[in-house]
Amino acid sequence: MRISYSALSTYQTCPLKYKYQNIDHIKEPKSKEAVFGTLIHSVMQYIHSPALIAPSLEDAINFFSQNWNEDIWANEMEERSAFSQGVKIIQDYYAKNDPADFTIVDLESRFSIEIGNETTGKHIIAGIIDRIDKTPNGYEIIDYKTAKKMPSQETVDTNLQLSIYLKAFLARYPKERENLDQITVSLYFLKHGAKLSATRTEEQLAELDRIFLEVIESIEAGKFDPVLSALCDWCGYQKICPLWKHKFVEERKMDSTEARSVIDDYIEAKEEASSVKRKLAELQEKIFLYMQDEGVDRVFGGRGIIGKSLRKTYKYDEAAVRDILAPLGKLDEVMKIDGVALKKVAGELPLDTKKSLENARILDKESVSLSVKKGSLLDEEESEA
Ligand code: SF4
Repeated sequence: MRISYSALSTYQTCPLKYKYQNIDHIKEPKSKEAVFGTLIHSVMQYIHSPALIAPSLEDAINFFSQNWNEDIWANEMEERSAFSQGVKIIQDYYAKNDPADFTIVDLESRFSIEIGNETTGKHIIAGIIDRIDKTPNGYEIIDYKTAKKMPSQETVDTNLQLSIYLKAFLARYPKERENLDQITVSLYFLKHGAKLSATRTEEQLAELDRIFLEVIESIEAGKFDPVLSALCDWCGYQKICPLWKHKFVEERKMDSTEARSVIDDYIEAKEEASSVKRKLAELQEKIFLYMQDEGVDRVFGGRGIIGKSLRKTYKYDEAAVRDILAPLGKLDEVMKIDGVALKKVAGELPLDTKKSLENARILDKESVSLSVKKGSLLDEEESEA
């Protein structure tokens, strides 16, 4: 399989979005944030392109201004604010970096590398590295980001995009593998004017193949479930996605007053149920205290009697049970595979063994549930239908 890094990354974020983009080839309208990001990337490329005299700050702002697209913004105020933000990014960049100080090895550097082997299948991953610099002791691989939020250093230490870029760099310059600790991988957050850098170990690079092979395997197995995340806000497929489509009234096939009232009634009933649950817990606490003070296990009210009962749960001493049942040949009948523990162990096993374990999975039961969104996107409360 030949796949771009960005497609792999899309699959990791949302398999359904990957399918829309790469299998169904449904064109995604480019968001204004994406258009802005692309222009800023072009400005960075312009600033660092080989030239006798590096472009000045004014040159860079002119380039930005000439390529500005004013038609994508909702209104003039939004457009002006985005334009100022772009200018500020460039000014901040020049305040911290003199383009003449860098030894650029490559810009917008295309790569295509092979991963996998005869057993797992061989695959090609392709992509574009924003920038590669020669540093006094080694190299620096840089990816520009125009995201609003800066991640933690830990995220950069394990960032897969930077790892695959490094792997591609090493495929082109294999001798540099001997100086792995001198090759820095960096994410430059332009809106913050800050760069987060890290290095990689051989172990991390080896792990990379395993992660990507797993993703490719899921793609080949046709697993394309949607994944709800904060990134849905920027997804251009909301109007066809089963998790969002209903939000758009014009996309609904049946939109009766009754259907709308059932949805609202369900949400209201869920809220009532939660409040009843909370009230029951508070009352139970008070009744326990009252029983304790009265020294009784049953209390009598106008509407009925409430009794206290003690429930005990037991677990078995595994060694003792083994000793008793094994000689009788009955141990296998009570042994059960612990799915959670198995998943934990599987992460440490070789890929082939892991694959065999996955193939041994049998669908046990399936259930459908409804969830009600309360507050933020990811703060959802599950309830059985
Ligand atoms: S809206 Fe969200 S869940 Fe739907 S395809 Fe896009 S990213 Fe996936």
